[in-house]
Amino acid sequence: MTTSASEVKEPVRCNRCIMDETVGGIRFDKDGVCNYCHMHDSMDKLFPIGKAGEKILKDIAVSIRKSGKGKPYDCVVGFSGGRDTSYCLHYAKEVLGLKPLAVHFDNGWTSEKARSNMENICAKLGVDLHIVTMDWDDSRELTNANIRACVPYVDLTNDIGIAYTLYSTAAKNDIKYILLSHSFREEGVAPLLWNYMDARYTRAIIKRFAKTKINHFKNADIHHFLYWLFIKRIKVVNVTNYYNDMGRQIENTLIERYGWQEPDGHHMDNELFILIYNYAWRKFGIDWRVVDVAAQVRTGILTREEGLAIMASPPYFDNEEFVSQSLEKQQMSREEFEAIIAAPNKYFLDYPNYYSWVKLFKWPFKLLCRMHILPIHAYEKYFEAI
Ligand SMILES: [Zn+2]
Repeated sequence: MTTSASEVKEPVRCNRCIMDETVGGIRFDKDGVCNYCHMHDSMDKLFPIGKAGEKILKDIAVSIRKSGKGKPYDCVVGFSGGRDTSYCLHYAKEVLGLKPLAVHFDNGWTSEKARSNMENICAKLGVDLHIVTMDWDDSRELTNANIRACVPYVDLTNDIGIAYTLYSTAAKNDIKYILLSHSFREEGVAPLLWNYMDARYTRAIIKRFAKTKINHFKNADIHHFLYWLFIKRIKVVNVTNYYNDMGRQIENTLIERYGWQEPDGHHMDNELFILIYNYAWRKFGIDWRVVDVAAQVRTGILTREEGLAIMASPPYFDNEEFVSQSLEKQQMSREEFEAIIAAPNKYFLDYPNYYSWVKLFKWPFKLLCRMHILPIHAYEKYFEAI
């Protein structure tokens, strides 16, 4: 029996943004509005922009400057050479008058454009750039192990590497603040089922799926976070959420002031993302663009129709030539990759993890996020997006 087109049911879609029921952890209220939209609204209240946002940032900057008195740096800025982190570094130095140390983690996939952006911006701002480069054999094997685990998101190198690098650099240099540039208005919050991460889960993946020994990789475990948060008292401020980061004025400032070059496609300061997104799209039917595009519809950067049109257009990560080059660099054969794509799909809940522990600490976790000790979107992600 064949199914006619009229019998194919369209997935249920949020009445406000463009997310549909295929998005991990999505729920709809009686008006057909999804929980990601509600999450957006609660963060919108916590992070005002305009005059109110400016005032909050200026007040935070006073505390940051005080914490760095007599020291060469008063904050670490996570830096990739992409749009958001580049503007955040500019804002920290030029607008807030801070003494940032720009910190970049390189898992071996930093693009040439991103590298030249970082060098130009730091030279023009007179900011020191600290780059931590992951051992390439470790990086390659960790990503391959992650792909073999058949889970939706396969980049533990960046996620853990960036966290470990930012905190350990701050701790080593006696810096009390880390400035991040994740924008819920532009980038949304990713579903937890799609990209969960913790140290126990990472260890399990390495143990089961790494074919060579991983020697130098630094896992960010609970005891590290306890040390960074409570002994070193390092706080995280998501600066981007307090200023208006919508529209072209950010790109224009970066181009005019620093000769900044726009990377091709979102996250393309790190070229591994073509492989990561292509894999998730083919294996799980996950189109990662939906997280950004839905956020931009909620914010009004895009209309709902424009958002739906983008999602209907071919994704930039549908690029077989680039995927083949990436697999070659990863030293993973096409046969192995295709066998993984065809194998049963798994989620983080299929492997050992700390999630049941994380759930026990829901309220202290919320408090730490609201106190800017942990990134504020972490609470939304771990408790509202599953
Ligand atoms: Zn929605």
